[in-house]
Formats: sequence, C-alpha cells, structure tokens
Amino acid sequence: MILIDGKEIARQIKSEIAAEIAEMIDNGETGPHLAAVLVGDDPASQTYVGGKEKACRDVGMISSLYKLPENVSEKELTDVIDYLNNDDQVDGFIVQLPLPGQIDEKKILQRIHPAKDVDGFHPQNYGRMALNLPAYIPATPYGILQLIERYKIETSGKNCVVLGRSHIVGSPVSILLSRKAYPGNATVTVCHSSTKDLKEKAKQADILIVAMGQKEFVTGDMVKKDAVVIDVGIHRVPSEKTKSGFELVGDVKFDEVSKKASFITPVPGGVGPMTIVSLLLNTLKAYKKEIYK
Ligand code: NDP
Repeated sequence: MILIDGKEIARQIKSEIAAEIAEMIDNGETGPHLAAVLVGDDPASQTYVGGKEKACRDVGMISSLYKLPENVSEKELTDVIDYLNNDDQVDGFIVQLPLPGQIDEKKILQRIHPAKDVDGFHPQNYGRMALNLPAYIPATPYGILQLIERYKIETSGKNCVVLGRSHIVGSPVSILLSRKAYPGNATVTVCHSSTKDLKEKAKQADILIVAMGQKEFVTGDMVKKDAVVIDVGIHRVPSEKTKSGFELVGDVKFDEVSKKASFITPVPGGVGPMTIVSLLLNTLKAYKKEIYK
C-alpha cells in the first residue's frame, strides 16, 4: 500500500510556485495578487482565510483581505465584488462561503468576473470545465487531480466511483475524471443519498473517491482489493491521544481500508493540504492570463 502524501506534494508545488514568483519579481514584475472577501466572524471561515493568507506569504504572493460585518447588505457586498472585478492590481479573488442568510450565495458567485473566479464556482468556469476548455477548476477537485498525476496513477479505462455529488467536490471530480484527458478517461459512477446498493457499487471501484461528509462511512468490506482510495472528508472528533483533545478523521475507516488499498490518502495530510495550493495555482494562472487571454 502506498500512502499518498498530500502534505509533501503540497510542499513541492508551493516551492515550485515560490520559485516562479521569485523569478517574476527579479524581472521587475509585481507577481500575482489574491484577494479574499470574508463576511462575519465564523471561526472556521476565519481559519480558512487565515490559512490562505499564510500560504500566499509562504510563496511570495500578494494577498489582501476585505472583511465585512455579518449584517452586510447584498448591495454592499456586490459593491466590493464590483470593485475587485475592476481592480487591475487584483488577479483573482474568492468570497469565503458560507454567507449569512440575507445574502443570495448564487447571485454573489455569479457576480464575480469569470476571469478572476479562482475558486472556479462561476457557471462559466464550471461549464468550460465540463466542455474540457481551459477553466479554473474548483480547488479540492483540482487538488485530487494533482495527487493522481504526481503519483502517476492510471485512470484510463478504470471504474471510478465517486461517493457524493456536491457542487464543490463530488460533481466536479466526476466530470473531470470522465473527460477525454489525463487524469480522466475513466468510467465514472456517482453515488448519493438516493443510490441503491451503494456498498456494491463502491466495491466495483478501481478508484474510489469519497466526499460524503459521513465520518468513517467507508469500511474495509466496501472496497475492492488494490483499489485507489481518495478520502476527502474531514471530521474533528474528541481524542485522548492528542494534546488538543481532538483528532481529524475522514469519511473512510483508514485502519480497515488501508489494508486493502493500493494507494490511499490519509486524513489529515491527504487531500486537505492540496486545496489551498490549488487556489494558489489558479491565481498564478490568472496572473499569467492562461485561462482568459
Ligand atoms: P456535502 O454535504 O455538500 O455533500 C455530501 C454528498 O454526500 C451529497 O451528495 C450527499 O447526497 C452524499 N451523502 C451524504 N450522506 C450519504 C449517505 N449516507 N449515502 C449516500 N450519499 C450520501 O459535502 P461536501 O462535498 O461539501 O464535503 C464532503 C466532505 O468533504 C465533508 O466532510 C467536508 O468537510 C469535506 N471537505 C474537505 C475539503 C478538503 O479540503 N479536504 C474541501 C471540501 C469538503 P445528496 O446529494 O443526495 O444529499
């Protein structure tokens, strides 16, 4: 069994990005600039945005943060988005989700200019991704593709089963792995809460991608011998083994499944570290105008 080391791959990609930015700066350029819009005081959102700012600092990328109060109006938020859309100094930006109830999330995501939509949630980028045209790919699926690529995992002709169909993970990853490309060319089955015989379907998978948000749902008996298992889930559970009193586990029962898998991502240290790095890669593409000329 090979443990897919997302932490190490993320470190390698970050050092590649840092080297590229250092060269840009040596050549007198400013380098890429990622902005984030954070509404309210949700601790998890603050942690995510803090992580993104730190990652930018680590690679020498400019970052800026627009903090808005919880009771911000939709008009005030769209004014900030319009400002960022028109600011030539900003290459890409994200609006941290979730947003408070008074704001229509879909409307906000569609207000972001597709050329600056480094989260890849705008319908134009989503559509381009589905059509296999150049597009910003949402960060977590993009991170999964990088792991598959860097570990040279064969996907062509494989049975790939995706557990979960959310707009941010399950659906895009299923589209990406069925595209005529590498990674891709797989025969993909997507399972969700209305799927019958999910266990049997999971067992058919050469590549099993689990993004359900159900703690340790996938057990050893649901996995074929030598399957590649990518666990996207993250759950914080009380633990006596750690100083903090908590540990992270995934959607996969690691102890059981790792005995059968050929490759497996751990939690933590698998898909998680790849998400922020993918956002940096998208911002670099925005700066270089690789997607929208
Ligand atoms: P969502 O809750 O948006 O989607 C979960 C999906 O799983 C849905 O499609 C749902 O089906 C399906 N599902 C849930 N329970 C079952 C069940 N018992 N049987 C069959 N299908 C089921 O989750 P996300 O995709 O946003 O996230 C999934 C997990 O990944 C979470 O643990 C999240 O924390 C983690 N995550 C990790 C990231 C990272 O960077 N590592 C990034 C993003 C998410 P239906 O559509 O029918 O409701």
